[in-house]
Amino acid sequence: MTQTNTAANASPHVMIPKPDELDLDLYQAIARQGEICMQRCSSCSLHTHPPRYYCPACASPQFTFAPVSGLGVVYSYTVSHMSVEPAWQPLVPFLTLVVELQEGPRIVATARNFDISSVKIGMPVRVITEAKGTDFAIFWAEPQ
Ligand SMILES: [Zn+2]
Repeated sequence: MTQTNTAANASPHVMIPKPDELDLDLYQAIARQGEICMQRCSSCSLHTHPPRYYCPACASPQFTFAPVSGLGVVYSYTVSHMSVEPAWQPLVPFLTLVVELQEGPRIVATARNFDISSVKIGMPVRVITEAKGTDFAIFWAEPQ
């Protein structure tokens, strides 16, 4: 994945990475369906993230990108007090979460509408997506 726009006055909303292969398929499914999707094995129904060519449980190469609830809990987090990326510098300090979804996969999302001092491991959150064109989407996490 490469990033294409690093203009000094850019915001995260205009910095659009260029995913490829299975990541591109995932983001296109999200943009098309307008909701968070994860890879789902057609043989055993396991949800997987990031996408893989073969199911880690049954090795099937057959899968779809299916909508998931977006509901989960904080598995881990970090607070960024600086950023080398100009687009993120106005937003520091910001909170990045690893969210364990109810469906199983863990996903990295940037927190919004969050009091940084209130974050706790195990805290219920909702992950939502914001499509950026047809080939990429941002993952946001908000308190439930
Ligand atoms: Zn499987």
